[in-house]
Amino acid sequence: MCRWTIQANIETIGRYVQNIKVRIYVRGLKLRMRSFDAIVLGLGSMGSFACLELASRGLRVAGFDSFAPPHTRGSHSGDTRVFRIAYAEHPDYVPLAQRAGELWEEHGRNFGAALLTRSGMLNIGPAEGEFIAGIRKSAIVHDVAIEELPVQEIRSRYPAFAPPEGFLGIFEKTAGWLDVPACAAPAFSTTRRS
Ligand SMILES: Cc1cc2nc3c(=O)[nH]c(=O)nc-3n(C[C@H](O)[C@H](O)[C@H](O)COP(=O)(O)OP(=O)(O)OC[C@H]3O[C@@H](n4cnc5c(N)ncnc54)[C@H](O)[C@@H]3O)c2cc1C
Repeated sequence: MCRWTIQANIETIGRYVQNIKVRIYVRGLKLRMRSFDAIVLGLGSMGSFACLELASRGLRVAGFDSFAPPHTRGSHSGDTRVFRIAYAEHPDYVPLAQRAGELWEEHGRNFGAALLTRSGMLNIGPAEGEFIAGIRKSAIVHDVAIEELPVQEIRSRYPAFAPPEGFLGIFEKTAGWLDVPACAAPAFSTTRRS
């Protein structure tokens, strides 16, 4: 580990873990650090909530990041993220997404903020295409509530959209969107305290 990396990581630990006592001596001198039950590398979407979860189980956790999250060099920045259950990619994603939804709502209650808004989501694609077929399959396998909308129905319910003939809509009512700043702020501040 180069000198710069050690310094950057120690600085980050100091930022995210309260009461840490770190002494660092480089070039042959003594290195002394506190011990932790778990170390989380990368404090973006996954890492910050991993810290929270581990700390909530009573573990002493330290987190490392190259930068000070939230920052714009990772995937966690922005205003919103789409949240969906009936993944077109594969039905195996569905239980993971369902559990993620439960956790977003639980964290929302704990943080006192609406992190996940289940507004519903309209998917539109060629009626015979893989995208629509994949969503339908995920919904059937895991009994996710969806509504199939022919083109005329899409046009009348959502006049902003004018899909061509041969397309189909699937409305998934448990899908929605995540408020990224609302998700990030309490997660990062709580992670610091933890
Ligand atoms: C533009 C965009 C739109 C997206 N839209 C959606 C969407 O609508 N719905 C959806 O579900 N998902 C969406 N995603 C994906 C979702 O945002 C990511 O899957 C999620 O944020 C990834 O979280 P992460 O913790 O893995 O990564 P990040 O949030 O990027 O966190 C990784 C952290 O690791 C740190 N790090 C990296 N390397 C090191 C290192 N060597 N040492 C120390 N720290 C390091 C980084 O600085 C960063 O803070 C989108 C992503 C992008 C970029």
